[in-house]
Amino acid sequence: MRIGPALDAVLRTTTIYDLRAAGAQDAIVVGAGAAGGLAALLLAEAGLRVLVLDAGWRQSAQRSWVRRATATITRTLADPATLRLLPPKAVPLGKIALRSVGLLRQPIQSRCSVWGRMPEAFVDDRDCPYATPPDQPFVWIRARTLGGRVGLPGHGRQYYRLSSSDLAPRDGLSAPWPLEPGELDPWYSMVERRLKLAGAMDDVPWQPDSHLSRELEPSLNQFAVMAAIGARWPHSRPMLTRFAAPLDALEGAALTGRLRCREGAVVRQIDVDRSGRVRGVVWFDQQSGTDVRACAPLVFLCASALESTRILSLSRSSKAVQGLGAQSDALGRYLMDHIVVTGLLLKHI
Ligand SMILES: Cc1cc2nc3c(=O)[nH]c(=O)nc-3n(C[C@H](O)[C@H](O)[C@H](O)COP(=O)(O)OP(=O)(O)OC[C@H]3O[C@@H](n4cnc5c(N)ncnc54)[C@H](O)[C@@H]3O)c2cc1C
Repeated sequence: MRIGPALDAVLRTTTIYDLRAAGAQDAIVVGAGAAGGLAALLLAEAGLRVLVLDAGWRQSAQRSWVRRATATITRTLADPATLRLLPPKAVPLGKIALRSVGLLRQPIQSRCSVWGRMPEAFVDDRDCPYATPPDQPFVWIRARTLGGRVGLPGHGRQYYRLSSSDLAPRDGLSAPWPLEPGELDPWYSMVERRLKLAGAMDDVPWQPDSHLSRELEPSLNQFAVMAAIGARWPHSRPMLTRFAAPLDALEGAALTGRLRCREGAVVRQIDVDRSGRVRGVVWFDQQSGTDVRACAPLVFLCASALESTRILSLSRSSKAVQGLGAQSDALGRYLMDHIVVTGLLLKHI
C-alpha cells in the first residue's frame, strides 16, 4: 500500500495514550484492507473521528527479521534484472531453498502462490496456529499487512459483481443470499465509482455490467486471444477484464484530519457493556507489548471474513456466551472469501 505524507504523519503520531480516553474517537475500524480502508474513508468524510487498528505493518516496518530477510532475498530473486544475471539452473534451486526456509515459519502461508514475493505480509504460522478436522483440511491464508490483501504483489485488481444466479444458487449446496435482486447495485456503483473501474460493457446475464469510469476496447492481441478462445469453445463468451488501481483510501481518510491509525494492533475482542451494547475493542499492541482498550459507540469489523468471525466468537459476555452475534446461529456459517485452489483440490474436481 502506498503510504502518502498524510498517512505517514498519522501513523507516526497515533499513540496508545491518546486512544484510551473515553470519547477519543467516534468509530473504530478493525482491519485496514479493502473493506476497512473504504469504511474509514467514508466515515471520516462524513465527519466522524475514526481510529483504524490493523494487526499488520507498513511494508518497511515489518518486525520479524526472519521474514524480512527471506523477503529481501526473495524480492531480489524475483527481480527480472537479477534473474538475467543468474545462471538459469540457479533460479529454480534458489526458489526451492527459499520455500524451505519459509516452510519453517510459514508452512501454511507459503502455499499461497504470491507468498514468495512478500512473505512478511502473511502471518507467522507458528504464532497463529489453527486446527481443522482431519478429513476437512483448510488452507487459511492470512494477510497481516497494512492495506490488506489488495496490496499483495500478484493481486489481480479485477472487480466483478455477483449475478442473480450467484445470489440464489441452484447447485443444491449453497444457501441463497437474503437479498433482493438489484439490492446491492447502488453499493456496487458507489465502490466502482470510487475505484474508477475500467472495462467494457458485456451485457451477459451471468456477469452484470459494472459502473465504468473508463470504457476499454480490446487491443489487437487481446482481440486475437478472445477470437481464439471463441473458436476453440464456440459457446464461450470471452470478455475483457474489469480492473482498477488500488484505492488510496487511508491516505484520503488521513487528509480529512479525522483519522488515527495504529499498526501492529492485533484486535482480540469487541468490548460490550452489561446491556450487551458494543463500547469498544481490546487489542494487543505489538509496539508497546501491552493490552489496550479503546472506546467508541461504533465498531466496524473488517479484519477479513474468517478473522472477523474469529473475533466475534471470542467476544463473549453474559448475554452472548458463544460470542457476539452467535444467537442468530449464522455466526461462522455462510462465509464468503477468496479461496485458494491448490493442486490437491484440482485433482478432486
Ligand atoms: C493473490 C490474490 C489475488 C487476488 N485477486 C483478486 C482480484 O483480482 N479481484 C478480487 O476481487 N479479489 C481478489 N483477491 C481477493 C481480495 O484481495 C480479498 O477478497 C479482499 O482484499 C478482502 O478484503 P478485506 O478488507 O475483507 O480483507 P483483507 O484484505 O484480508 O484485510 C484484512 C485486514 O485486517 C487486518 N487484520 C487481520 N486480523 C486482524 C486483527 N485480529 N486485528 C486487527 N487487524 C487485523 C489485516 O492486517 C488486514 O490489513 C485476491 C486475493 C489474493 C490473495
